[in-house]
Amino acid sequence: AIEVSALDKWYGNFHVLKNIALSVAAGERIVVCGPSGSGKSTLIRCINRLEEHQQGRISVNGIALNDSVKNLDAIRREVGMVFQHFNLFPHLTVKENCALPQILSRGKRRREAEEMAMHFLGKVRIPEQADKYPGQLSGGQQQRVAIARALCMTPKVMLFDEPTSALDPEMVKEVLDTMVTLAEEGMTMIVVTHEMGFARKVADRVVFMEAGQVIEVNEPQAFFDAPKHDSTRRFLANIM
Ligand code: ATP
Ligand code: MG
Repeated sequence: AIEVSALDKWYGNFHVLKNIALSVAAGERIVVCGPSGSGKSTLIRCINRLEEHQQGRISVNGIALNDSVKNLDAIRREVGMVFQHFNLFPHLTVKENCALPQILSRGKRRREAEEMAMHFLGKVRIPEQADKYPGQLSGGQQQRVAIARALCMTPKVMLFDEPTSALDPEMVKEVLDTMVTLAEEGMTMIVVTHEMGFARKVADRVVFMEAGQVIEVNEPQAFFDAPKHDSTRRFLANIM
């Protein structure tokens, strides 16, 4: 579903991604981890073209990411994204947060968009919060709204950038449980997270990045129990 090859990206003179190769099959779940500043967010932001790359190739479900605006639209249809800080619209209710993007960028009728919103708010198990505003919800509930909002666009791939790292500890599990359910339903997922329990349980492969490079890719058991590189070992020793 996702093919990244020989990817290089610079911010000005700063070489932030170096010769990245990664392929993700349909239905595969990838966890990306690595130290702060290693380029994890930049990589997944390149995959839905929130950032542009300078060299190499990225394609999502056969659509190449290049300068064409038409492709940009096409990519956004394929890929849903969930951020660390929810990014909900504070002046819209939960239901409107989920419905409005469908109306604005898919041309759906309000009724249909709201039905879809309620369907996915049910899936993330907060349909009763539909008429509240984001500020009236807990962090965990807000993040589940953000997941529902992304799912309303019926993406084929979901990208998560540290979806639980802004949450109080007692709310982490409810968000991870939602993501586990999504994974069990066969969603293709790339998840940047340091929740290694989630990685062990759900990931098909774990990717370790450092200083803009992919250092190690392995199945979770091998990754955690027998890391191949010193830097992976050091990283794991620090976070576990
Ligand atoms: P964290 O774990 O802290 O979220 P990360 O692995 O997601 O880190 P990135 O956010 O991808 O790291 O950043 C990689 C590097 O690129 C960092 O050194 C960061 O300072 C730099 N960087 C990120 N965004 C920009 C930008 N818009 N302009 C210039 N440099 C940037
Ligand atoms: Mg990041």
